[in-house]
Formats: sequence, C-alpha cells, structure tokens
Amino acid sequence: MTASVAELQTDSRTQFASATIVEVNGRTYAAPKRPTVVIVVDGFDPAYLEHGFANGTLPTLKSFGQSGFVGLADCSIPSTTNTNNTSIVTGAPPAVHGINGNYYLDADTGEEIMITDASRLRCGTILGALGRAGVHTAVVTAKDKLLKVLAYQMPGIAFSSEHAHLANLKANGVEDVEALVGRPQPDQYSADLSLFALDAGVALLSAFKPSLIYLSTSDYVQHKHAPGEPEADAFHHAVDAVVAKLIALGATVAITADHGMNDKSTADGTPKVVYLEDELDARFGAGAVRVICPIADPFVRHHGALGSFVRVHLRKPGDIPAMMAFCRTLPGIELVLDKQDVCNQFDLPLDREGDFAVFSDRHTVVGARRQDHDLSQLAGHRLRSHGGLGEQKVPFLMSRPLNAEYRKRAADGPLHNYDIFDFALNGVE
Ligand SMILES: [Zn+2]
Repeated sequence: MTASVAELQTDSRTQFASATIVEVNGRTYAAPKRPTVVIVVDGFDPAYLEHGFANGTLPTLKSFGQSGFVGLADCSIPSTTNTNNTSIVTGAPPAVHGINGNYYLDADTGEEIMITDASRLRCGTILGALGRAGVHTAVVTAKDKLLKVLAYQMPGIAFSSEHAHLANLKANGVEDVEALVGRPQPDQYSADLSLFALDAGVALLSAFKPSLIYLSTSDYVQHKHAPGEPEADAFHHAVDAVVAKLIALGATVAITADHGMNDKSTADGTPKVVYLEDELDARFGAGAVRVICPIADPFVRHHGALGSFVRVHLRKPGDIPAMMAFCRTLPGIELVLDKQDVCNQFDLPLDREGDFAVFSDRHTVVGARRQDHDLSQLAGHRLRSHGGLGEQKVPFLMSRPLNAEYRKRAADGPLHNYDIFDFALNGVE
C-alpha cells in the first residue's frame, strides 16, 4: 500500500491554519503540532516499569500517570525486535508489513536469511510519509540492522549508534555525530549503545529541532539483567533522565517497547530449552522438518538464538496434525497452531508462515537442534529472552494527556504498540 499525502486547509476567516495529514496503511496521521519523540525501549518489560515506579528510579515516567498517560499494550507476535519496530513505524500488523521475524526460511531457495534491509517490507511507513510531506524527521537506532526499515523512503536524518562514526550528510542527513553527542561511538555490546541513541535524540532536538524523532534502543541490558538488578535500574534510570531532557526541550514524548522479557531458566540457572527439531527428528525420522527461530540474530550473543516462538517447515511430505499433537505433549510448550490459525489469530502473512507454529511458555525457550544454539555465550548469566505470548505486554506511555477520543480508545482497548504514532500525533491534548 502506498502512502498518500493530503493537505487539509482549515477554512477560517480569522486564521490560516494549515495541517498536513498523511494516510499510511489505512490510518491517518497529523503532522506534529509540537516536537514529538517516539521512543521504543527494546525489551522494556512491564516488570521493569513496575519496579522503577516502586523504587523511585523512573520519576519522569511515573509522573506521566498524572500529566499524561500510563498503560499497557500488546506487541505483535512473534514478540521480536524487527517485527515490532516495523509494526510501530508502519502502524500495522505483520500481515500488512510482511516482516514476521528477524530471521526466516526463504520458501523459494531454501536459504535461511537474516533481515538486514527493507526488501521484505510490503508497505510504507508513517515516518516516510510525513517526511515526504515536508515534516522534518529523524531516526536514531542503536542497531544498524534496523535502520533500512525504520528510515525506509524517509528524507531526513537517520543513523545508528553502531555506525555513528560513518554517518555523513549524503547517506544519513547528518555528520560529525560523535561530536554532536559528545562522546565516541560505543561498543556494539554495551548498554551505552542504547544510551548513545537516546542522547543523540536530545542533541538532534537541541541542534536541528526536527518535528518528529524516532529512537530505538537495544535489549542488551534486559537480556542480561532482571528487574531490580543494579545494572537494570541504572539503565532504565538513565532512559528516564533522557526523557526528562526531551520534555524540558518542549517535546511530547511517547514510549513503548518492541517486546517484553522473561527469565527462561530453572532455579539452578540451567536454561529451560525444548530442542524441537531434535525432538521431531527423533519421533518422525531425521530430516523431517526444519525449525526456524525468528529471534535468531548473529549480531546478538546473549540469548543463543533461543526464544519462545518457532516456525516448523516440513522438508518432505508428512503428517502435520500428528507432529502438532506430538509437540503439544512436550513439557514447556503452551500453544501449537497450524499456518492458517496462527495467521488468523496473530495477523501474520500467510505466504511467509511455516507449516505450523510452536509457542513455549513464559519460562521456557524453544529452539531447533542443540548444535544450532551456543549457550556458552551466556557467560554465567541466566537465560532471559522473548518471542512468545509471555512477552506480549509492553508499556504504552505518553508525556501529555490524551484527548477525550483517545482516552476512550485506551479505555476500550485493546491497544497495540503499533498505535503509538496514532496516539502521539492524533491523540494528545
Ligand atoms: Zn528487541
């Protein structure tokens, strides 16, 4: 679906108010009346929010309870990063935008492919449409792999923390980013990769005053540290401080997450894993299926490509109902749906789905073969991950009060994290 742009003129004898409105994937978005910053805090499980509200480390976000809006929303399934960042910037579910995971099996070639560009994207974005309509837009993402989707067909500023030193006017609409932010580009595996992206948002707002900024972090901290651990508190407190700075600069700030995060280990710290391809091979014969983990990400080493959702592709004709019934008997598996049902229930694109989908419960992960997953990289940490239904709830926060229509929509529900642009642009007083 191509985004279209319309100019609405307010017919008034006393003023010439003109508002830009764009239509994207069947929904309309007004150009921001004041600077607006949408932040996607990667892996920001509601448990971090509750913990930070209780112990005082999130004073700014907590204040939204009085001055704005604090709620919860559902993320897209699978609860993975690419899927949800794409849902958020398109305002649409995966059935519309096509990005149903970080990693997929190409049905035509049999190749297993990691998504690092916009070639699978099937629609336009809100940022792109507003940018082309003349709204000054900026995108900063911690992870470079997201940049091509987030800034798809968007004129304006767009760069990643990961490649900050490479940012130049021609490709990124900005240069000397390290000087702008005031420190060198951080390590790829660090909490500072995210904080650099957020600090860049503050610096861009001060220096260039974009009307609309999208900031996306990495879940490095949340994969490693549970709510209440000092590292998690310190990170989220730093996020809160950035939000306070953005508000002080006059911005409306909207915050959500791409997915939640849960502990996936037993009491003694052993990861709870179902190696589904091994199980299916043992029961139905070697080479019966290929299990694809859409959370897989060679650039991330803290979850061993293990999450709570996988797609099962048959390598040769087989008894799908029997395989599904077998999967349901495995401890830790909470839901098994065939291709059609998983697409109907979770708004997924049918032509990109496996033969069936398997969800593990909130404290279990499901993988392919034991040899596909390197858990040595946990380096002593408990396994924390996402991908399934246990990570579907995410915070949905607004720094300013909602107008009456959007208060009602929030109360009636359900809210999706991909409603955040709609609420931030159309729904605040
Ligand atoms: Zn994520």
